[in-house]
Amino acid sequence: MTMDASRLDTVRSHYPVLIIGGGINGCGLFRDLAAQGIDCLLIDKNDFCSGASAAPSRLIHGGIKYLETGEFRLVRQSAMERNLLLKNAPHYVKPLETVLPVYSWFGGIVPSIKRFFRLKATLNDRGAIITEIGLRLYDLFGRHFRTMPNHRMLLRRSMASVMPELTKRAVASGIYYEGRITHAERLGLELLLDGIQDNPESRALNYVSVSGNGSGGITLTDGLSSRSVAVTADIVINAGGAWIDAVNDKLGIVSQHMGGNKGSHLIVRNQRLHEALGGRMVYFGSADGRVNLLYPFMGNVLVGSTDIPVQDPDLAVCDDAERQYLSHVTREVFPDIEIRQDEIVMTYCGVRPLPRTEGVDPGAVSRDHSIVRDVIPGANTPVLSLIGGKWTTYRGFSEEAADLVLRLLGRARLRSTQELPIGGGRGFPMNDAGITRFADDLSKVTGSLQTATDLLHRYGTRATLIGAENNQTRLVSIPAYGRFELAWICRNECVGRLTDLLFRRTDIALSGRLSAAVVAEAAEIAADTLGWDAERRQNEIDATLQTCHSRGMTIS
Ligand SMILES: Cc1cc2nc3c(=O)[nH]c(=O)nc-3n(C[C@H](O)[C@H](O)[C@H](O)COP(=O)(O)OP(=O)(O)OC[C@H]3O[C@@H](n4cnc5c(N)ncnc54)[C@H](O)[C@@H]3O)c2cc1C
Repeated sequence: MTMDASRLDTVRSHYPVLIIGGGINGCGLFRDLAAQGIDCLLIDKNDFCSGASAAPSRLIHGGIKYLETGEFRLVRQSAMERNLLLKNAPHYVKPLETVLPVYSWFGGIVPSIKRFFRLKATLNDRGAIITEIGLRLYDLFGRHFRTMPNHRMLLRRSMASVMPELTKRAVASGIYYEGRITHAERLGLELLLDGIQDNPESRALNYVSVSGNGSGGITLTDGLSSRSVAVTADIVINAGGAWIDAVNDKLGIVSQHMGGNKGSHLIVRNQRLHEALGGRMVYFGSADGRVNLLYPFMGNVLVGSTDIPVQDPDLAVCDDAERQYLSHVTREVFPDIEIRQDEIVMTYCGVRPLPRTEGVDPGAVSRDHSIVRDVIPGANTPVLSLIGGKWTTYRGFSEEAADLVLRLLGRARLRSTQELPIGGGRGFPMNDAGITRFADDLSKVTGSLQTATDLLHRYGTRATLIGAENNQTRLVSIPAYGRFELAWICRNECVGRLTDLLFRRTDIALSGRLSAAVVAEAAEIAADTLGWDAERRQNEIDATLQTCHSRGMTIS
């Protein structure tokens, strides 16, 4: 699926459903509707999963902190979806042992009760009693499709042998399990590719923006070729995340559905911190009443996150104050470990697409989802805005939205997505012995066990498609990757820009391994494969270096 200037020629003039926005909510709905045989056109003004969906804490979690606000329905749904993703996307979603340190026995009982009844209260001390009650409830809510053990509490002395560098202020720690997703951006893309395979009449186009023509019609413009086409749809889905009101505005609808809080993360190269974590996440309430986290991520440590109201999602970046805050807050749980600014290999920032609320503490705005209905003036076309939600719950949210769309179209649901494997999760071995066997078989094609193992970890069972190229040439600048691998991705995975390849289709940037030499070599492969001329290639290199700069990456 390479991109060329003629890609708009394959777009029909009418679709039952037009989805605007290819974050996880748009991708999930596209996948569900494709499984029901509904032809959809999905467009995104940037790359797929490049907004909030590329900026989460990468937890696939039941949302333990939503117990505090009494959002039991959300916790139950999140925990079930977490368990389903562990089964349906085992190549990218893995269990994560989590440590929740507590600093007193009885703290937090009064503020917890207040918060439960939606009264204002700062919860900066979640004591052992309240934590034990919470974790018991959490086990209970997570029992459907469960594959991970229940929680346990460890007292300070036992904890000292499990995690010696953890603060001695903690009288006890709750140990429980969540899920984490490594390649979130790829999983979104795989949903689209699965959808297209199920229903080849559906189309998904990145770098295409939308505008209204003033009399109810919709114009799509290809940002890569500047060509435009007119389309109509029976139903428009606004999956624009934090940009939902801006998308509505383009369609001639005045709305004020969205508020938005930016959240930033640091990717830190600090060996001592990495070792101190021992493969676990520390999820902790900090002294300012916020909840923060740190866990090992692709050889580095992920530290997050902030929660700051913003007006314009296009201007959200991780600023110096957030870098300082996140590096210092770590000292609350690992007092002897310092994060130096030069150890921050990358930052990322996204805007949580939250419903508009007035006077609510940013961290307390509900993470639940809803669907709001508007109409395009002049055309009477319904526009359904997908508001809020979490990465974890995208499937359930998509199912609710798809059911509404099916009802409006007078069509029946043909299949549930509940147990549908996703992309490279299809047939992915569920234990180490199976992984070794799979890699062994694949190595007969790739000619190297190391290459086969790398491909399997990066792409799940899609590795068999990539490995079939059977070409041993490695990149000079980063030999862990093959030239054939990058070329295959450019040809088959909707790569429009160099940043797609380096930041979202591969884990090169996320793992902190991007350098000027990698950028140049990847640009050469992309240019050869996608037919870019010298000027386009240079523009892509410049744009990539600019992106690196905005993410605090020092590229040499
Ligand atoms: C800091 C942070 C931490 C988070 N942590 C977690 C977590 O650990 N676990 C979890 O489950 N969830 C987490 N979330 C929540 C989760 O990431 C989001 O709820 C989810 O990604 C929202 O997806 P979306 O599709 O609605 O929005 P987005 O991913 O933002 O997608 C919206 C898309 O619309 C496109 N768009 C905008 N305007 C237009 C236009 N005019 N035309 C065409 N396209 C347009 C954008 O380019 C974008 O791709 C976190 C979010 C943030 C920001």
